[in-house]
Amino acid sequence: MPHDFDLLVIGAGSGGVRCARIAAGHGARVAVVESRHWGGTCVNLGCVPKKLMVQASEYGALVDDSAGFGWSNTRGTHDWSKLIAAKDKEITRLNGIYISMLEKAGITLFTGHAQFEDAHTVRIMPSALAPDAKAQTVSAKKIIIATGSEPVRADIPGAELAITSDEAFYLKERPESVVIIGGGYIGLEFAGIFAGLESRVDLVYRQPEPLRGFDQDMRTAVKEAVNAKGIQQHPSASPQEIIRTGTGYAVTLDNGTTLNADCVMFATGRRPKAGNLGLEKAGVKTEKSGRIIVDDTQETSQPGIYAIGDVTDRINLTPVAIAEGHNLADRLFGKDPARTWSIDTTPKAVFFTPPLASVGLSEEEAARNGAVDIYLSRFTPMRHTLSGRREQKTVMKLVVDQASQKVVGVHMLGDDAAEIMQGFAVAVTAGLKKIDFDRTVGIHPTSAEELVTMRTRTRETPHTP
Ligand code: NDP
Repeated sequence: MPHDFDLLVIGAGSGGVRCARIAAGHGARVAVVESRHWGGTCVNLGCVPKKLMVQASEYGALVDDSAGFGWSNTRGTHDWSKLIAAKDKEITRLNGIYISMLEKAGITLFTGHAQFEDAHTVRIMPSALAPDAKAQTVSAKKIIIATGSEPVRADIPGAELAITSDEAFYLKERPESVVIIGGGYIGLEFAGIFAGLESRVDLVYRQPEPLRGFDQDMRTAVKEAVNAKGIQQHPSASPQEIIRTGTGYAVTLDNGTTLNADCVMFATGRRPKAGNLGLEKAGVKTEKSGRIIVDDTQETSQPGIYAIGDVTDRINLTPVAIAEGHNLADRLFGKDPARTWSIDTTPKAVFFTPPLASVGLSEEEAARNGAVDIYLSRFTPMRHTLSGRREQKTVMKLVVDQASQKVVGVHMLGDDAAEIMQGFAVAVTAGLKKIDFDRTVGIHPTSAEELVTMRTRTRETPHTP
């Protein structure tokens, strides 16, 4: 029996949509099924609304800072519901763009929840997005699972009283006070958002510094930056219990502290969203964590079924899912060599204010491969010499492999770090050496020029296997 489609993509997030569009461009007959949000987590409950809310949170401090430049503005008040309505309107616009982009590419769209019946057949059932839709069955030669991930809550009594980032985007009112549990990307980003919008923020994390896995100097710098923003940090602490109080919630920590707030938010990681897909009927294996197991070609344990993005729980970043989707569509349906990318030099950014961005290896990772030269710079950015916000430092770091003199890591905490790092990611991906940075002329006056003018080695770190 011929199949209805050459390719069925389950999940219309960043990775799934890219994969579908590229495959259709190569001439494949493609369908996409989505149960909840066209555009997936990034557009609806992640990168896009997060960035808009980070931007919203920055204006108050900018108004304060302008006084040092001669302005006589005062902050005024922030209207949370106006922000959420504006953000929702933009997301609805983007949902429409995603749908029309797929339709223009000749892709068939299904709204509903997909469940495998066998390795080539999927039953599409009504879902929240289309509760009245009729169930139907479609078949495809190849199927790609791109269902993403969802937030997890710590397993403690009262966990159900807390929100996650999913709900934070739709709060009816801004909480006056919030306890955020977790010192990763989401914890830091929402701590910055709420603090910038004048909520009192307690940030609880179980390591001595936030952002485990990032360069140690940068983690220390982030901890200082979080402090400078007036956020109360509770390092080396874990929550034990959440209870409802007369006025809000109380969170007990394992160090004996109790924190009271209007709102408690978990930012304790995300898990692959692969349950309820009927994977066993298709012979697709998962790990205990729910992660779909894939090989180097994104193929699952069932030939012809692939998985991309967060559902495979490797590097859980939108651009990585997009790259995986693009590469897979090229390989399955293209004629030219597939587009590839450098996974080892995937740049990262945490949109705190100021943001942290990095590409390549931390000092600790690089030292495992051999001795490294470290160039470190910490300064007050020009804006803050007049704004008076002198406690907001910019920190930059180059990690150079001593033997080859290749720059293997670039790290920055400071205004526009994410924008700046994108260009340096090209340099690190290209394997450029310190001498190439040295012979690059700076743009003056910028913060970024510091990355090409660091002449004196700060220290040498021995090989630490
Ligand atoms: P992260 O993995 O970044 O951080 C999770 C945090 O929660 C860590 O501090 C972790 O501590 C802590 N934690 C985990 N379990 C518990 C527990 N049971 N009790 C107390 N603390 C706990 O996850 P996020 O939720 O912040 O983000 C999920 C992923 O989404 C990120 O890893 C990233 O891939 C992606 N993302 C990317 C963004 C970006 O690119 N800007 C923005 C937002 C998300 P410990 O370190 O000790 O394990």
